[in-house]
Order: sequence, then structure tokens, then C-alpha cells
Amino acid sequence: MGPLCLDDVVPLTLTTVTFPSFHPFAGQTGIVNAFAIRHPEGVVLVDTGIGEGNAFVDQSYRPQRRAIGDELRVVDLSISDVIAVVNGHLHFDNIGGNSLFPGVPIFVQKAEWDVAHAGGATYRQERIDFDVLDWVDFPGATYCRVDGEHEVVPGVRLVPTPGHTPGHQAVLIETDEGLAAIAGQVPYDHVEWDWLRTERSMLESETGDSLQNVVVGDPETYLASAIRLVELGPRNVHFTHDRIIWRQRE
Ligand SMILES: [Zn+2]
Repeated sequence: MGPLCLDDVVPLTLTTVTFPSFHPFAGQTGIVNAFAIRHPEGVVLVDTGIGEGNAFVDQSYRPQRRAIGDELRVVDLSISDVIAVVNGHLHFDNIGGNSLFPGVPIFVQKAEWDVAHAGGATYRQERIDFDVLDWVDFPGATYCRVDGEHEVVPGVRLVPTPGHTPGHQAVLIETDEGLAAIAGQVPYDHVEWDWLRTERSMLESETGDSLQNVVVGDPETYLASAIRLVELGPRNVHFTHDRIIWRQRE
């Protein structure tokens, strides 16, 4: 179909974090990706990283940030090219830069919105006592709460993949070279993707169930969502916390 190619899904590594002592990955470093989709109608930005000004986040995760505008400029794009933002889900590391986009439609699943604004688990994560609703509810915020699948621009489609949170969503991009998927956190990384392709079962982490505590809200739902995505057979798959893009071998 359309004029897009696989390289039009551009990962932007916005933040490096060091996981705090209370986290199952304590002491390890991690990354937070966002993604720019270069579409003929403009840029669709998927996620906006960790925001600024929250003392708890800064002290516990010690984020090292790169500005979204700077990262876009590296690939000859700019903030003003962004015609739509997608939040894969409403955790603190996906929404921090939303306020850079007043008046720009921000797409989130209604289920995610409702849980977040009810103060639910998706928002107040276990043992993390902070509120980042002000990163969501900023002056000029223009949310499009969608309920199920939705086409943002031609060839760019949101697909609910609940499990990490109740309203987690993936983004599917039709390109001339095949389907690309921004999986977000369902599944977590390219290792889990490979496992799911052959095993169709949960990948148990080396540290017992700790990975599931972090990554998986509802294991049954998570697995069903991940398998559904796997079965769509995307050629490229992107993950929020993985530097590696999974690519189908020829
Ligand atoms: Zn999350």
C-alpha cells in the first residue's frame, strides 16, 4: 500500500534510567524509547518519555534525558511536525513530554484513561507513591479517548493489547515493505518476542516472577495480547525498553 517504508518508524531513545532499590531490576540501567512515525500527513509520535520536575522520579530512577525536540532534529524532524501523539499506556515513563503538544490530538485507550483517573494501579504503581497526573492533564491537552481499534492516519492503526495495564495499546504501521509494530511493553523485548513465536507461552524470568510483577499486570490477558500481536506476523517490532528492533529474517 502506502508510501511508508520500515525505516519510517524511527526509535527515539529519550531516557536512560538506573532502576531503584525497590525495583526487581535494582541497579541495572534501562532505557525508555519513544517512536516517530514519518507519515506523508506528518509525524505520529508514540510516547513522550519521562517528564521533569517530579522529585521522586528524579531521585529514584536518576533519569538522564534527551529532549524530544533534540532527538527529532537528529532525524531532520521537529516538534512542529508532530500531528498526533499516541500514548501506549499512561505510566510515568510514557507520558512525561505530553505537555509539549497542546492542541495536538493525543490518542489513548478509554480503558487506560479511566483507570488512571480513578487512581488505579496503572497510575499509582506498587510501592511508588507519586502522582504524575499533571503530566497528563496540562493546559491545552487534547485527548482522543478511543475504545478499541482506531486508525490515526491512513496505515497507522491502534490495537488494544491489554495486560501490562488495562488499556495498553500497540501501534501497527503498514509499509511498502510489510507490517511494522510498536509493541510497547506487550511483550517486553525481542527475547520474549522470539520465545512467543515458537512457544506461545509466558517466558519465565530468571528471577522468579519478578519480571512479571513489573511487566505484567494480568498474565492471562498479557499473554493473549502478545500472541495476537505475534500472529499478525509483523516484519519489524519495536519495544519501549529494548534497544534492539526485532526483525524477521529473510
Ligand atoms: Zn508501563
